[in-house]
Amino acid sequence: MTGLMQGKRGLIMGLANDRSLAWGIAKSLRAQGAELAFSYQGEALEKRVRPLAAELGSELLIDCDVSDMAALDRAFDHLKGQWGKLDFLVHAIGFSDKNELRGKFVDTSLDNFLMTMNISVYSFVAVARRAAAMMEAGGAMVTLTYYGAEKVIPHYNVMGVAKAALEMSTKYLAADLGPEGIRVNAISAGPIKTLAASGIGDFRYIMKWNEYNAPLRRNVTIEDVGGAGLYLLSDLASGVTGEIHHVDAGYNVVGMKAEDAPDI
Ligand code: NAD
Repeated sequence: MTGLMQGKRGLIMGLANDRSLAWGIAKSLRAQGAELAFSYQGEALEKRVRPLAAELGSELLIDCDVSDMAALDRAFDHLKGQWGKLDFLVHAIGFSDKNELRGKFVDTSLDNFLMTMNISVYSFVAVARRAAAMMEAGGAMVTLTYYGAEKVIPHYNVMGVAKAALEMSTKYLAADLGPEGIRVNAISAGPIKTLAASGIGDFRYIMKWNEYNAPLRRNVTIEDVGGAGLYLLSDLASGVTGEIHHVDAGYNVVGMKAEDAPDI
């Protein structure tokens, strides 16, 4: 199976390093012939993203803080100038104050609530609108969510509320953009040790718990996420939109967790 993405061009937003979920998706898209552009948040990340992009044959890098609407406009103007059209988009961006990714949700501050919703949810809407304007012949978009959107996960707090809003945004965007042949889906990934995840309290415990209770008895990898990203962004998923696709070794289907959990 090669060449599934041949002739297709897409923007990957949210690559920080080679442990990022965006990296898993970018690798699988490139392996199937996609041409990729990357956006990154600020100069410090450019140093890490540039060599990774080069590994995947890409020199098209764009500085873009997604909380800055003018920066988003500039980023998409630049992309349009370079490529004209766009076939797919990966939105792998989330952020919250790590002081509020521990303790209780009830203590969430207004400032952090609004910032988390802005960067982790609204950015997808803002990006989708600009990307859709470049998808003249239809296209596909994917964002990343987590089970904390559906059920309470200790410490995930305001990020869980943001992911719930992100999942619903995915469905509204799918309804709005479907008539233009644009599909919008989300991958609900199991816990993976990344830069963003390291800000979540007791994250190692969450990983152990998932490993012990998931039907596949393991955690997922960025390659697992990459495979699902390829499926959703390629014509293999031509009839799929508005879907929240779990890539979590089956964890979400288990109602009763194991009784004799080992010492985790
Ligand atoms: P990561 O740290 O590798 O990626 C997060 C990215 O968000 C970084 O590239 C960062 O620069 C970017 N970002 C944050 N604020 C930004 C801003 N204002 N403008 C532009 N970019 C900004 O971590 P990751 O785990 O790969 O996260 C990617 C996505 O996957 C996030 O939405 C995360 O919530 C989601 N996710 C992660 C897990 C997990 O366990 N790691 C599980 C499910 C979903």
